[in-house]
Amino acid sequence: MTTGIWVLGDQLQAGQAALASANPAGTRVLLIESTTLPGRLAVHPQKLVLVWSAMRHFAVEQRQAGWTVDLLETDDFGETLLAWIGREGIRELRVMEPADRPFRRMIEALALPVPLVWVASNAFLWSRDAFAAWATGRRQLRMETFYREGRRRFGVLMEAGGDQPLGERWNYDQENRRSPPRGLVGPEPLWFEPDAITREVIAKVGALDERRRADGSCPLPGDLEPFRWGVTRAQALAVLEHFIATRLAGFGPYQDAMVGGQPTLWHALLSPYLNLGLLQPLEVIQRLEEEGLARGVPLASLEGVIRQILGWREYTHGLYHWFGEDYAASNHFGHQAPLPPFFERLGGSGMACMDTALAAIRELGYAHHIQRLMLLANYGLIAGLEPAALTDWFRRVFIDGFDWVMQTNVLGMGLFADGGRLASKPYAASGSYINRMGTHCKGCRYDPKQRTGPVACPFNALYWDFLERHRQELAANPRMALVMKQLEKFAEADLAAIRTTAAQHRSTMAGGV
Ligand SMILES: Cc1cc2nc3c(=O)[nH]c(=O)nc-3n(C[C@H](O)[C@H](O)[C@H](O)COP(=O)(O)OP(=O)(O)OC[C@H]3O[C@@H](n4cnc5c(N)ncnc54)[C@H](O)[C@@H]3O)c2cc1C
Ligand code: SF4
Repeated sequence: MTTGIWVLGDQLQAGQAALASANPAGTRVLLIESTTLPGRLAVHPQKLVLVWSAMRHFAVEQRQAGWTVDLLETDDFGETLLAWIGREGIRELRVMEPADRPFRRMIEALALPVPLVWVASNAFLWSRDAFAAWATGRRQLRMETFYREGRRRFGVLMEAGGDQPLGERWNYDQENRRSPPRGLVGPEPLWFEPDAITREVIAKVGALDERRRADGSCPLPGDLEPFRWGVTRAQALAVLEHFIATRLAGFGPYQDAMVGGQPTLWHALLSPYLNLGLLQPLEVIQRLEEEGLARGVPLASLEGVIRQILGWREYTHGLYHWFGEDYAASNHFGHQAPLPPFFERLGGSGMACMDTALAAIRELGYAHHIQRLMLLANYGLIAGLEPAALTDWFRRVFIDGFDWVMQTNVLGMGLFADGGRLASKPYAASGSYINRMGTHCKGCRYDPKQRTGPVACPFNALYWDFLERHRQELAANPRMALVMKQLEKFAEADLAAIRTTAAQHRSTMAGGV
Protein backbone atom coordinates (compact mmCIF):
# COMPACT_ATOMS: atom_id res chain seq x y z
CA MET A 1 0.00 0.00 0.00
CA THR A 2 1.25 3.50 -0.83
CA THR A 3 0.73 6.15 1.79
CA GLY A 4 0.56 9.71 0.54
CA ILE A 5 1.80 12.57 2.70
CA TRP A 6 0.78 16.02 1.62
CA VAL A 7 3.14 18.63 3.06
CA LEU A 8 1.69 22.14 3.08
CA GLY A 9 3.80 25.20 2.30
CA ASP A 10 4.12 26.22 5.95
CA GLN A 11 5.07 22.71 7.16
CA LEU A 12 8.60 22.55 5.77
CA GLN A 13 10.16 20.78 8.70
CA ALA A 14 12.01 17.51 8.13
CA GLY A 15 10.63 16.18 11.43
CA GLN A 16 7.06 17.38 10.93
CA ALA A 17 4.52 15.03 12.40
CA ALA A 18 3.10 13.51 9.20
CA LEU A 19 6.58 12.64 7.87
CA ALA A 20 7.58 11.40 11.31
CA SER A 21 4.58 9.03 11.23
CA ALA A 22 5.86 7.18 8.13
CA ASN A 23 9.06 5.97 6.54
CA PRO A 24 10.31 6.54 3.00
CA ALA A 25 9.56 2.99 1.79
CA GLY A 26 5.95 2.80 0.58
CA THR A 27 5.35 6.54 0.97
CA ARG A 28 5.03 9.33 -1.59
CA VAL A 29 5.37 12.90 -0.43
CA LEU A 30 3.44 15.60 -2.23
CA LEU A 31 3.97 19.36 -2.35
CA ILE A 32 1.56 21.46 -4.40
CA GLU A 33 2.63 24.84 -5.70
CA SER A 34 -0.77 26.29 -6.40
CA THR A 35 -1.67 29.62 -7.95
CA THR A 36 -5.33 29.24 -6.88
CA LEU A 37 -5.01 31.76 -4.05
CA PRO A 38 -2.65 34.37 -5.57
CA GLY A 39 -4.73 34.27 -8.76
CA ARG A 40 -7.62 35.62 -6.68
CA LEU A 41 -5.86 37.48 -3.87
CA ALA A 42 -3.24 40.20 -4.22
CA VAL A 43 -0.44 38.81 -2.03
CA HIS A 44 3.02 40.42 -1.65
CA PRO A 45 5.11 38.94 -4.49
CA GLN A 46 8.05 38.23 -2.16
CA LYS A 47 5.81 36.11 0.03
CA LEU A 48 4.98 33.94 -2.97
CA VAL A 49 8.66 33.66 -3.85
CA LEU A 50 9.56 32.79 -0.26
CA VAL A 51 6.96 30.03 0.10
CA TRP A 52 7.37 28.48 -3.35
CA SER A 53 11.15 28.62 -3.36
CA ALA A 54 11.30 27.18 0.16
CA MET A 55 8.99 24.34 -0.98
CA ARG A 56 11.22 23.59 -3.98
CA HIS A 57 14.33 23.53 -1.82
CA PHE A 58 12.56 21.35 0.74
CA ALA A 59 11.60 18.89 -2.02
CA VAL A 60 15.24 18.63 -3.11
CA GLU A 61 16.41 18.08 0.48
CA GLN A 62 13.80 15.44 1.22
CA ARG A 63 14.67 13.54 -1.97
CA GLN A 64 18.29 13.55 -0.80
CA ALA A 65 17.05 12.18 2.53
CA GLY A 66 15.47 9.21 0.72
CA TRP A 67 11.84 10.24 0.29
CA THR A 68 9.99 10.02 -3.02
CA VAL A 69 8.74 13.55 -3.49
CA ASP A 70 6.40 14.98 -6.12
CA LEU A 71 6.26 18.75 -6.40
CA LEU A 72 3.41 19.74 -8.68
CA GLU A 73 2.61 23.18 -10.09
CA THR A 74 -1.05 23.86 -10.69
CA ASP A 75 -3.75 26.47 -10.70
CA ASP A 76 -6.24 24.04 -9.15
CA PHE A 77 -4.87 22.15 -6.16
CA GLY A 78 -8.04 20.08 -5.66
CA GLU A 79 -7.97 18.57 -9.15
CA THR A 80 -4.22 18.05 -8.96
CA LEU A 81 -4.47 16.24 -5.64
CA LEU A 82 -7.22 13.92 -6.86
CA ALA A 83 -5.33 13.14 -10.07
CA TRP A 84 -2.15 12.39 -8.07
CA ILE A 85 -4.00 10.04 -5.71
CA GLY A 86 -5.36 8.07 -8.69
CA ARG A 87 -2.13 8.11 -10.69
CA GLU A 88 0.15 7.02 -7.83
CA GLY A 89 -2.21 4.44 -6.33
CA ILE A 90 -2.39 6.26 -2.99
CA ARG A 91 -4.48 4.29 -0.45
CA GLU A 92 -4.36 6.72 2.49
CA LEU A 93 -3.58 10.43 2.64
CA ARG A 94 -1.88 11.88 5.73
CA VAL A 95 -1.67 15.58 6.42
CA MET A 96 -0.26 17.30 9.49
CA GLU A 97 -3.00 19.52 10.92
CA PRO A 98 -2.69 22.92 9.28
CA ALA A 99 -2.03 25.90 11.53
CA ASP A 100 -4.57 27.89 9.51
CA ARG A 101 -8.19 26.81 9.83
CA PRO A 102 -9.27 27.61 6.23
CA PHE A 103 -6.77 25.05 4.87
CA ARG A 104 -8.32 22.28 6.88
CA ARG A 105 -11.79 23.26 5.66
CA MET A 106 -10.61 23.34 2.05
CA ILE A 107 -9.04 19.91 2.32
CA GLU A 108 -12.09 18.44 4.05
CA ALA A 109 -14.32 19.79 1.27
CA LEU A 110 -12.44 17.82 -1.39
CA ALA A 111 -14.37 14.51 -1.15
CA LEU A 112 -11.25 12.37 -1.34
CA PRO A 113 -11.54 8.82 -2.64
CA VAL A 114 -9.19 7.53 0.13
CA PRO A 115 -9.14 7.88 3.94
CA LEU A 116 -7.77 11.21 5.15
CA VAL A 117 -5.69 11.00 8.35
CA TRP A 118 -5.00 14.19 10.28
CA VAL A 119 -1.75 13.97 12.22
CA ALA A 120 -1.58 16.24 15.29
CA SER A 121 0.77 19.13 14.62
CA ASN A 122 4.19 19.34 16.26
CA ALA A 123 4.91 22.79 14.82
CA PHE A 124 4.31 24.61 18.11
CA LEU A 125 5.47 24.00 21.65
CA TRP A 126 1.95 23.98 23.00
CA SER A 127 -0.38 21.47 21.32
CA ARG A 128 -3.96 22.65 20.88
CA ASP A 129 -5.08 20.21 23.59
CA ALA A 130 -2.44 21.45 26.03
CA PHE A 131 -3.47 25.05 25.40
CA ALA A 132 -7.14 24.16 25.84
CA ALA A 133 -6.31 22.47 29.16
CA TRP A 134 -4.50 25.62 30.31
CA ALA A 135 -7.30 27.92 29.15
CA THR A 136 -10.25 25.94 30.45
CA GLY A 137 -11.95 27.56 33.41
CA ARG A 138 -9.85 30.73 33.39
CA ARG A 139 -11.69 34.01 33.54
CA GLN A 140 -8.84 35.87 31.90
CA LEU A 141 -6.36 34.47 29.43
CA ARG A 142 -3.52 36.93 29.92
CA MET A 143 -0.26 36.47 28.07
CA GLU A 144 1.90 37.04 31.15
CA THR A 145 0.32 34.10 33.04
CA PHE A 146 0.59 31.86 30.00
CA TYR A 147 4.22 32.86 29.41
CA ARG A 148 5.26 32.13 32.98
CA GLU A 149 3.64 28.73 32.75
CA GLY A 150 5.60 28.16 29.50
CA ARG A 151 8.87 29.13 31.19
CA ARG A 152 8.19 26.57 33.94
CA ARG A 153 6.84 23.87 31.65
CA PHE A 154 9.73 23.98 29.17
CA GLY A 155 12.38 24.90 31.75
CA VAL A 156 13.48 28.10 30.03
CA LEU A 157 15.44 30.79 31.92
CA MET A 158 14.65 29.19 35.28
CA GLU A 159 16.79 28.89 38.40
CA ALA A 160 18.29 25.39 38.49
CA GLY A 161 15.83 22.85 39.85
CA GLY A 162 13.47 25.55 41.05
CA ASP A 163 10.23 27.24 40.24
CA GLN A 164 11.72 30.71 40.11
CA PRO A 165 12.87 32.76 37.11
CA LEU A 166 16.54 33.27 36.45
CA GLY A 167 17.52 36.70 37.79
CA GLU A 168 14.47 36.73 40.10
CA ARG A 169 12.29 38.59 37.59
CA TRP A 170 9.91 37.32 34.94
CA ASN A 171 9.61 40.55 33.01
CA TYR A 172 12.02 43.26 31.84
CA ASP A 173 9.60 45.20 29.64
CA GLN A 174 10.19 48.43 31.55
CA GLU A 175 13.87 48.40 30.58
CA ASN A 176 13.10 47.68 26.96
CA ARG A 177 11.27 50.85 25.98
CA ARG A 178 13.98 53.39 25.27
CA SER A 179 13.38 56.24 22.85
CA PRO A 180 15.82 56.23 19.95
CA PRO A 181 18.67 58.74 20.28
CA ARG A 182 19.60 60.84 17.23
CA GLY A 183 21.47 58.82 14.58
CA LEU A 184 20.61 55.38 16.03
CA VAL A 185 21.73 52.69 13.57
CA GLY A 186 21.10 48.98 14.04
CA PRO A 187 23.32 46.11 12.84
CA GLU A 188 23.08 45.01 9.20
CA PRO A 189 20.74 42.04 8.73
CA LEU A 190 21.88 38.88 6.99
CA TRP A 191 20.45 38.73 3.46
CA PHE A 192 20.97 36.24 0.63
CA GLU A 193 21.43 36.33 -3.13
CA PRO A 194 18.75 34.26 -4.92
CA ASP A 195 20.06 30.96 -6.31
CA ALA A 196 18.91 29.33 -9.59
CA ILE A 197 15.78 27.81 -7.98
CA THR A 198 14.75 31.13 -6.46
CA ARG A 199 15.41 32.98 -9.71
CA GLU A 200 13.05 30.59 -11.51
CA VAL A 201 10.36 31.27 -8.93
CA ILE A 202 10.92 35.02 -9.22
CA ALA A 203 10.33 34.74 -12.98
CA LYS A 204 7.15 32.74 -12.36
CA VAL A 205 5.78 35.29 -9.90
CA GLY A 206 6.68 38.12 -12.30
CA ALA A 207 4.69 36.38 -15.04
CA LEU A 208 1.76 35.83 -12.67
CA ASP A 209 1.76 39.54 -11.81
CA GLU A 210 1.76 40.46 -15.51
CA ARG A 211 -1.15 38.10 -16.14
CA ARG A 212 -3.10 39.73 -13.32
CA ARG A 213 -2.48 43.21 -14.75
CA ALA A 214 -3.48 42.03 -18.26
CA ASP A 215 -6.72 40.59 -16.80
CA GLY A 216 -7.50 43.94 -15.19
CA SER A 217 -6.82 42.65 -11.64
CA CYS A 218 -4.84 44.87 -9.29
CA PRO A 219 -1.07 44.27 -9.34
CA LEU A 220 0.54 42.28 -6.54
CA PRO A 221 1.36 44.70 -3.71
CA GLY A 222 5.09 45.26 -3.15
CA ASP A 223 8.39 44.91 -4.99
CA LEU A 224 9.25 41.52 -6.41
CA GLU A 225 12.97 42.33 -6.44
CA PRO A 226 15.47 42.54 -4.91
CA PHE A 227 14.45 39.35 -3.09
CA ARG A 228 16.88 38.73 -0.23
CA TRP A 229 15.14 36.37 2.21
CA GLY A 230 16.55 32.93 3.00
CA VAL A 231 14.68 29.95 1.54
CA THR A 232 16.38 26.92 3.10
CA ARG A 233 16.81 25.56 6.59
CA ALA A 234 20.55 26.19 6.36
CA GLN A 235 19.93 29.85 5.57
CA ALA A 236 17.34 30.13 8.34
CA LEU A 237 19.87 28.69 10.80
CA ALA A 238 22.44 31.19 9.52
CA VAL A 239 19.99 34.04 10.23
CA LEU A 240 19.53 32.72 13.76
CA GLU A 241 23.30 32.56 14.34
CA HIS A 242 23.73 36.01 12.82
CA PHE A 243 21.05 37.36 15.14
CA ILE A 244 22.81 35.84 18.15
CA ALA A 245 26.18 37.23 17.08
CA THR A 246 25.11 40.74 16.11
CA ARG A 247 21.75 41.71 17.65
CA LEU A 248 20.76 39.55 20.61
CA ALA A 249 22.65 41.61 23.20
CA GLY A 250 21.06 44.83 21.91
CA PHE A 251 17.58 43.38 21.34
CA GLY A 252 15.99 44.82 24.46
CA PRO A 253 16.59 48.54 24.80
CA TYR A 254 15.33 49.74 21.41
CA GLN A 255 12.72 47.04 20.87
CA ASP A 256 9.97 49.68 20.62
CA ALA A 257 11.94 52.29 18.67
CA MET A 258 10.95 53.39 15.15
CA VAL A 259 13.75 54.90 13.09
CA GLY A 260 13.56 56.19 9.52
CA GLY A 261 15.73 54.19 7.10
CA GLN A 262 16.21 51.44 9.74
CA PRO A 263 13.39 48.98 9.20
CA THR A 264 14.95 46.12 11.15
CA LEU A 265 17.05 47.62 14.01
CA TRP A 266 17.81 44.79 16.52
CA HIS A 267 14.78 42.69 15.56
CA ALA A 268 15.43 39.01 14.84
CA LEU A 269 13.88 38.66 11.36
CA LEU A 270 13.02 35.08 12.26
CA SER A 271 9.25 35.06 11.78
CA PRO A 272 9.20 33.96 8.10
CA TYR A 273 11.44 30.99 8.92
CA LEU A 274 9.59 29.99 12.07
CA ASN A 275 6.25 30.28 10.32
CA LEU A 276 7.30 28.08 7.38
CA GLY A 277 8.76 25.40 9.66
CA LEU A 278 12.37 26.02 8.59
CA LEU A 279 13.13 26.71 12.24
CA GLN A 280 11.48 25.11 15.25
CA PRO A 281 10.47 27.31 18.18
CA LEU A 282 12.05 25.13 20.86
CA GLU A 283 15.38 24.83 19.05
CA VAL A 284 15.45 28.62 18.61
CA ILE A 285 14.61 29.27 22.26
CA GLN A 286 17.16 26.76 23.52
CA ARG A 287 19.89 28.09 21.25
CA LEU A 288 19.14 31.66 22.36
CA GLU A 289 19.23 30.65 26.00
CA GLU A 290 22.40 28.60 25.69
CA GLU A 291 24.37 31.19 23.69
CA GLY A 292 22.86 34.18 25.45
CA LEU A 293 23.93 32.90 28.87
CA ALA A 294 27.34 31.81 27.59
CA ARG A 295 27.97 35.25 26.10
CA GLY A 296 26.69 37.13 29.13
CA VAL A 297 23.91 38.82 27.15
CA PRO A 298 21.92 41.17 29.43
CA LEU A 299 18.89 39.31 30.80
CA ALA A 300 16.60 42.13 29.68
CA SER A 301 17.53 41.42 26.04
CA LEU A 302 17.60 37.63 26.34
CA GLU A 303 14.32 37.44 28.23
CA GLY A 304 12.89 40.07 25.87
CA VAL A 305 13.30 37.94 22.77
CA ILE A 306 12.44 34.62 24.45
CA ARG A 307 9.22 36.22 25.70
CA GLN A 308 8.28 36.93 22.05
CA ILE A 309 8.70 33.35 20.90
CA LEU A 310 7.81 31.29 23.99
CA GLY A 311 5.18 33.83 25.06
CA TRP A 312 3.52 35.84 22.33
CA ARG A 313 3.97 33.43 19.43
CA GLU A 314 2.63 30.39 21.29
CA TYR A 315 -0.10 32.46 22.92
CA THR A 316 -1.45 33.92 19.66
CA HIS A 317 -1.45 30.49 18.04
CA GLY A 318 -3.13 28.86 21.05
CA LEU A 319 -5.79 31.54 21.24
CA TYR A 320 -6.54 31.36 17.52
CA HIS A 321 -7.60 27.73 17.90
CA TRP A 322 -9.18 28.23 21.31
CA PHE A 323 -11.37 31.16 20.20
CA GLY A 324 -12.50 29.31 17.07
CA GLU A 325 -14.15 30.25 13.82
CA ASP A 326 -16.32 33.17 14.94
CA TYR A 327 -13.37 35.20 16.15
CA ALA A 328 -12.59 36.31 12.57
CA ALA A 329 -15.82 38.35 12.50
CA SER A 330 -15.06 40.24 15.75
CA ASN A 331 -15.94 43.91 15.49
CA HIS A 332 -16.46 45.14 19.03
CA PHE A 333 -16.62 48.86 18.16
CA GLY A 334 -18.70 48.30 15.02
CA HIS A 335 -16.06 50.00 12.86
CA GLN A 336 -16.96 50.02 9.18
CA ALA A 337 -14.66 52.45 7.33
CA PRO A 338 -12.96 50.99 4.25
CA LEU A 339 -9.15 51.06 4.09
CA PRO A 340 -7.83 54.30 2.57
CA PRO A 341 -6.10 53.64 -0.78
CA PHE A 342 -2.63 54.29 0.70
CA PHE A 343 -2.80 50.85 2.34
CA GLU A 344 -3.10 49.00 -0.96
CA ARG A 345 -0.68 51.39 -2.68
CA LEU A 346 1.80 50.89 0.17
CA GLY A 347 2.56 54.59 0.39
CA GLY A 348 1.38 58.09 -0.29
CA SER A 349 -0.39 58.80 3.01
CA GLY A 350 1.62 61.99 3.57
CA MET A 351 2.25 60.88 7.17
CA ALA A 352 6.01 60.36 7.45
CA CYS A 353 5.74 57.57 10.04
CA MET A 354 3.18 55.61 8.01
CA ASP A 355 4.93 56.10 4.69
CA THR A 356 8.22 54.88 6.18
CA ALA A 357 6.60 51.67 7.46
CA LEU A 358 4.71 51.18 4.19
CA ALA A 359 7.93 51.65 2.18
CA ALA A 360 9.59 48.86 4.22
CA ILE A 361 6.61 46.62 3.56
CA ARG A 362 6.82 47.40 -0.16
CA GLU A 363 10.55 46.58 -0.24
CA LEU A 364 10.68 43.62 2.16
CA GLY A 365 7.17 42.59 3.15
CA TYR A 366 8.36 43.46 6.66
CA ALA A 367 7.80 46.07 9.34
CA HIS A 368 8.75 45.47 12.93
CA HIS A 369 6.36 44.82 15.77
CA ILE A 370 5.87 48.38 16.99
CA GLN A 371 5.30 49.67 13.47
CA ARG A 372 2.65 46.97 13.03
CA LEU A 373 1.02 47.63 16.40
CA MET A 374 1.45 51.31 17.15
CA LEU A 375 1.36 52.72 13.63
CA LEU A 376 -0.63 50.49 11.29
CA ALA A 377 -3.07 48.79 13.65
CA ASN A 378 -3.31 51.85 15.90
CA TYR A 379 -4.29 53.93 12.87
CA GLY A 380 -6.87 51.26 11.96
CA LEU A 381 -8.29 51.40 15.48
CA ILE A 382 -8.55 55.15 15.91
CA ALA A 383 -9.63 55.81 12.30
CA GLY A 384 -12.39 53.20 12.68
CA LEU A 385 -11.31 50.93 9.81
CA GLU A 386 -13.22 47.70 9.31
CA PRO A 387 -11.34 44.99 11.28
CA ALA A 388 -11.80 42.16 8.76
CA ALA A 389 -10.54 44.32 5.89
CA LEU A 390 -7.47 45.39 7.86
CA THR A 391 -6.73 41.80 8.93
CA ASP A 392 -6.96 40.68 5.32
CA TRP A 393 -4.57 43.45 4.26
CA PHE A 394 -2.05 42.45 6.94
CA ARG A 395 -2.22 38.81 5.87
CA ARG A 396 -1.60 39.67 2.23
CA VAL A 397 1.24 42.19 2.47
CA PHE A 398 3.45 40.71 5.18
CA ILE A 399 6.12 38.15 4.36
CA ASP A 400 5.20 36.26 7.56
CA GLY A 401 1.42 36.71 7.36
CA PHE A 402 -0.74 33.67 8.15
CA ASP A 403 -4.28 33.40 9.39
CA TRP A 404 -3.34 31.97 12.82
CA VAL A 405 -0.97 34.78 13.70
CA MET A 406 -2.89 37.62 12.07
CA GLN A 407 -6.27 37.20 13.69
CA THR A 408 -5.21 37.44 17.30
CA ASN A 409 -2.55 40.06 16.62
CA VAL A 410 -4.64 42.35 14.44
CA LEU A 411 -8.15 41.79 15.80
CA GLY A 412 -7.21 41.19 19.41
CA MET A 413 -4.05 43.13 20.15
CA GLY A 414 -4.16 45.80 17.45
CA LEU A 415 -7.84 46.67 17.14
CA PHE A 416 -9.43 45.46 20.39
CA ALA A 417 -12.09 44.12 18.03
CA ASP A 418 -12.66 41.18 20.38
CA GLY A 419 -13.74 43.51 23.19
CA GLY A 420 -10.83 42.55 25.45
CA ARG A 421 -10.63 38.77 25.24
CA LEU A 422 -6.92 39.20 24.57
CA ALA A 423 -5.79 42.69 25.62
CA SER A 424 -6.81 44.45 28.80
CA LYS A 425 -7.21 47.80 27.02
CA PRO A 426 -7.13 49.17 23.47
CA TYR A 427 -3.59 49.96 22.24
CA ALA A 428 -4.67 53.41 21.07
CA ALA A 429 -2.02 56.11 20.90
CA SER A 430 -1.69 59.69 19.69
CA GLY A 431 1.15 61.38 17.82
CA SER A 432 3.04 62.04 21.06
CA TYR A 433 3.74 58.32 21.52
CA ILE A 434 5.00 58.08 17.93
CA ASN A 435 7.05 61.25 18.40
CA ARG A 436 8.59 59.84 21.59
CA MET A 437 9.40 56.41 20.17
CA GLY A 438 10.23 57.40 16.59
CA THR A 439 12.32 59.76 14.53
CA HIS A 440 9.83 60.57 11.78
CA CYS A 441 8.01 63.62 13.12
CA LYS A 442 10.85 66.03 12.38
CA GLY A 443 10.55 65.36 8.65
CA CYS A 444 6.76 65.25 8.58
CA ARG A 445 4.42 67.79 7.06
CA TYR A 446 2.26 67.45 10.20
CA ASP A 447 2.93 68.77 13.69
CA PRO A 448 2.79 66.15 16.46
CA LYS A 449 2.08 68.86 19.05
CA GLN A 450 -1.13 70.07 17.39
CA ARG A 451 -4.48 68.42 17.85
CA THR A 452 -6.62 70.36 15.44
CA GLY A 453 -6.27 72.30 12.20
CA PRO A 454 -4.73 71.54 8.82
CA VAL A 455 -1.21 70.74 10.05
CA ALA A 456 -2.23 68.83 13.18
CA CYS A 457 -0.87 65.29 13.34
CA PRO A 458 -3.74 63.05 12.17
CA PHE A 459 -2.98 60.57 14.95
CA ASN A 460 -3.89 63.27 17.50
CA ALA A 461 -7.32 64.21 16.16
CA LEU A 462 -8.18 60.57 15.39
CA TYR A 463 -7.08 59.48 18.87
CA TRP A 464 -9.21 61.95 20.81
CA ASP A 465 -12.07 61.45 18.39
CA PHE A 466 -11.89 57.69 19.00
CA LEU A 467 -11.90 58.18 22.78
CA GLU A 468 -14.85 60.49 22.53
CA ARG A 469 -16.85 58.26 20.21
CA HIS A 470 -16.47 55.37 22.67
CA ARG A 471 -16.37 57.50 25.80
CA GLN A 472 -18.95 55.62 27.80
CA GLU A 473 -17.44 52.20 27.35
CA LEU A 474 -13.81 53.25 27.69
CA ALA A 475 -14.50 55.18 30.87
CA ALA A 476 -15.50 51.89 32.48
CA ASN A 477 -12.06 50.38 31.82
CA PRO A 478 -9.78 51.11 34.82
CA ARG A 479 -6.67 51.03 32.61
CA MET A 480 -8.11 53.93 30.57
CA ALA A 481 -9.03 56.02 33.61
CA LEU A 482 -6.19 58.51 33.38
CA VAL A 483 -6.67 59.39 29.76
CA MET A 484 -10.45 59.50 30.03
CA LYS A 485 -10.06 62.03 32.86
CA GLN A 486 -8.06 64.18 30.46
CA LEU A 487 -10.83 63.94 27.90
CA GLU A 488 -13.32 65.13 30.53
CA LYS A 489 -11.43 68.41 30.72
CA PHE A 490 -11.89 69.27 27.04
CA ALA A 491 -14.32 72.08 26.32
CA GLU A 492 -17.13 71.38 23.84
CA ALA A 493 -15.46 73.74 21.33
CA ASP A 494 -12.23 71.66 21.52
CA LEU A 495 -14.16 68.48 20.97
CA ALA A 496 -15.96 69.99 17.98
CA ALA A 497 -12.62 71.05 16.44
CA ILE A 498 -11.24 67.53 17.01
CA ARG A 499 -14.27 66.02 15.31
CA THR A 500 -13.88 68.36 12.34
CA THR A 501 -10.13 67.71 11.97
CA ALA A 502 -10.64 63.94 12.22
CA ALA A 503 -13.48 64.02 9.68
CA GLN A 504 -11.40 66.14 7.28
CA HIS A 505 -8.51 63.72 7.54
CA ARG A 506 -10.77 60.73 6.88
CA SER A 507 -12.31 62.36 3.86
CA THR A 508 -8.91 63.39 2.41
CA MET A 509 -7.56 59.86 2.89
CA ALA A 510 -10.64 58.23 1.42
CA GLY A 511 -10.18 60.39 -1.67
CA GLY A 512 -6.66 58.98 -2.11
CA VAL A 513 -4.91 62.09 -0.67
C1 LIG B 1 -0.92 44.01 14.03
C2 LIG B 1 0.13 42.94 14.08
C3 LIG B 1 0.27 42.04 13.03
C4 LIG B 1 1.22 41.02 13.10
N1 LIG B 1 1.32 40.12 12.08
C5 LIG B 1 2.19 39.08 12.16
C6 LIG B 1 2.27 38.11 11.12
O1 LIG B 1 1.57 38.17 10.13
N2 LIG B 1 3.13 37.10 11.24
C7 LIG B 1 3.94 36.98 12.33
O2 LIG B 1 4.70 36.02 12.40
N3 LIG B 1 3.87 37.87 13.33
C8 LIG B 1 3.03 38.92 13.26
N4 LIG B 1 2.98 39.83 14.27
C9 LIG B 1 3.84 39.65 15.44
C10 LIG B 1 5.21 40.35 15.33
O3 LIG B 1 5.03 41.70 15.02
C11 LIG B 1 6.11 39.69 14.29
O4 LIG B 1 6.20 38.31 14.56
C12 LIG B 1 7.50 40.27 14.29
O5 LIG B 1 7.45 41.65 14.05
C13 LIG B 1 8.34 39.56 13.24
O6 LIG B 1 9.59 40.16 13.10
P1 LIG B 1 10.90 39.59 13.81
O7 LIG B 1 11.09 38.17 13.44
O8 LIG B 1 12.00 40.52 13.48
O9 LIG B 1 10.47 39.66 15.31
P2 LIG B 1 11.13 40.03 16.71
O10 LIG B 1 10.54 41.30 17.17
O11 LIG B 1 12.59 39.98 16.65
O12 LIG B 1 10.56 38.86 17.63
C14 LIG B 1 11.12 37.54 17.59
C15 LIG B 1 10.06 36.52 17.21
O13 LIG B 1 9.03 36.49 18.17
C16 LIG B 1 7.79 36.11 17.58
N5 LIG B 1 6.78 37.13 17.89
C17 LIG B 1 7.00 38.35 18.41
N6 LIG B 1 5.83 38.97 18.68
C18 LIG B 1 4.86 38.13 18.27
C19 LIG B 1 3.45 38.22 18.28
N7 LIG B 1 2.81 39.29 18.76
N8 LIG B 1 2.76 37.20 17.77
C20 LIG B 1 3.39 36.11 17.29
N9 LIG B 1 4.72 35.98 17.27
C21 LIG B 1 5.45 36.97 17.77
C22 LIG B 1 8.06 36.02 16.08
O14 LIG B 1 8.17 34.67 15.72
C23 LIG B 1 9.37 36.74 15.89
O15 LIG B 1 10.12 36.22 14.82
C24 LIG B 1 2.04 40.88 14.23
C25 LIG B 1 1.90 41.79 15.27
C26 LIG B 1 0.95 42.80 15.20
C27 LIG B 1 0.79 43.72 16.36
S1 SF4 C 1 3.59 64.18 12.97
FE1 SF4 C 1 2.08 62.58 13.20
S2 SF4 C 1 1.84 61.75 11.15
FE2 SF4 C 1 3.74 62.92 11.15
S3 SF4 C 1 5.33 61.44 11.62
FE3 SF4 C 1 4.69 62.34 13.56
S4 SF4 C 1 3.12 60.96 14.33
FE4 SF4 C 1 3.38 60.50 12.16
